[in-house]
Amino acid sequence: MTEQTLSIIKPDAVERNLEKEIKDFFIKNNLKIADSKKVKISKEEAEEFYKVHQTKPFYNDLCNYLSSGAIVVIILEGENAILKNRELMGATDPIKANDGSLRKMYGLSIDKNSVHGSDSLENATSEIKFFFK
Ligand code: ADP
Ligand code: MG
Repeated sequence: MTEQTLSIIKPDAVERNLEKEIKDFFIKNNLKIADSKKVKISKEEAEEFYKVHQTKPFYNDLCNYLSSGAIVVIILEGENAILKNRELMGATDPIKANDGSLRKMYGLSIDKNSVHGSDSLENATSEIKFFFK
């Protein structure tokens, strides 16, 4: 089934000029860039975006981090795009991510792990709406 999902290139990767490499990686793996923009969000917007994590001990750091610099938000489109993007990203902790995955290649640590990807159809829909009205 053709789906759309939200990818975010996080501040650590934007800072290292990895936008083009990461986009090319998606395209090479049959995901189309349906839309994309570079933005900077406020702490409050990050808190809203990550509200599912509000009870986690890392929530405050996570929101500070996502709002600390420019990010690139991308609508990816393709066959099983949601699951496919999760596979291309690799595990949350770069140390545990599969060889060849984005987080293995570029992630610096569990918090500076270079990319975000929606984890379900419901979250993909709401996360796309969050950034692309
Ligand atoms: P994923 O991004 O793989 O979907 P989660 O939704 O569980 O992972 O967590 C959201 C983000 O919060 C992660 O990408 C990571 O940046 C951060 N995070 C998750 N777990 C931890 C942790 N134990 N310590 C610090 N940051 C974390
Ligand atoms: Mg998640």
